[in-house]
Amino acid sequence: MKKIPVAILGATGAVGQQFVTLLASHPWFEVRALMASERSTGKTYGEAVSWKQAGPLPQRLAAVKVEACEPGGDFSIAFSALDAAVAGGIEKAFAAAGHVVVSNSRNHRLEPDVPLILPELNADHLEVIPGQKKNRRWKGCIVTNSNCSTMFLAMALGPIHRRYGVEKVFVTTMQAISGAGYPGVPSWDILGNVIPFISGEEEKIETETRKILGFVRDARIELATFTVSAQTNRVPVENGHTECVSLALRSPARPKEIAELLSGFTGLPQQLKLPSAPVHPILVRSEPDRPQPRMDVMTENGMSTVVGRIRPCPILDVRMVLLGHNTIRGAAGAAILNAELLKVQKYL
Ligand code: NAP
Repeated sequence: MKKIPVAILGATGAVGQQFVTLLASHPWFEVRALMASERSTGKTYGEAVSWKQAGPLPQRLAAVKVEACEPGGDFSIAFSALDAAVAGGIEKAFAAAGHVVVSNSRNHRLEPDVPLILPELNADHLEVIPGQKKNRRWKGCIVTNSNCSTMFLAMALGPIHRRYGVEKVFVTTMQAISGAGYPGVPSWDILGNVIPFISGEEEKIETETRKILGFVRDARIELATFTVSAQTNRVPVENGHTECVSLALRSPARPKEIAELLSGFTGLPQQLKLPSAPVHPILVRSEPDRPQPRMDVMTENGMSTVVGRIRPCPILDVRMVLLGHNTIRGAAGAAILNAELLKVQKYL
């Protein structure tokens, strides 16, 4: 099969590097362009990047010249890992020029004609794309994936919401330093410490979760009606966001029933056997001290949400602990899975 040419915008950052790693041997996509800021343009990727991935920098891409973020090149998909300070305008320009922008940045996520896709749960939200192109007179389009913490929360809530109806969610996160990009949080601030504030994160979790589990009406996405209260913390963990969650449900459910529901859950990516789809989008662990980032973050190549400690909550109804890999399932891996879905559903 002839591979689909793609570009990575923000290729030098924490998420950009994860894209480079995951796309280096992708069966359907081939990296044609690496783009970043004027700090990097003109250098080879090997010179421009401060490589932080566990494996080596793929040889072929190390020698590629980093380009400015300009649309019109020979690629159909533009994966965006751009800093949110610049992503908004650049992504619009790429969509207007006919590229399919698959973005990790927050800028367009909450626009009602922009799908915020978690394909196990809301692949039907892609149906707003024709309206988006028409309204904005774009030849291409923008499809987004959520904030990393939102991804794991929405993944676990989705099956529960459909079966029992979620009414209230209380979530406290412990988020890895790689979630702040590179160089991110100074080592002096985070070593042996917890920082109880991540700018904008609580608002994103409280809204994006409801958009993912919302519904399409008149070619616009409306938010689900439950309430989310989030508290977010940065902790000295390299990769993997852990979340302690308590839920109030409309219909009663025993912890064992929730565990069985989550263990057996699969969605469209599994049915379609998309190359990046985990076999188990949710893996439930029964040990009393799991999930833990060091041991569980790479479950199914970092694409599974790991859930444990499902038990009754004395204030709400049920509580549990979640873990996911923030730059894989929470960012680059999620975007690549979305692009695979877009290909199969003929949106490219
Ligand atoms: P990062 O490490 O700070 O990387 C930012 C990237 O944007 C770099 O490649 C940088 O290029 C590029 N950039 C900055 N200013 C630019 C400009 N004026 N023009 C063109 N490119 C520019 O950030 P990150 O953690 O990878 O995050 C990238 C995006 O993904 C953000 O929007 C973030 O919110 C989102 N996200 C991150 C995570 C995570 O776990 N890290 C998870 C989900 C979503 P230079 O190297 O040339 O400066």
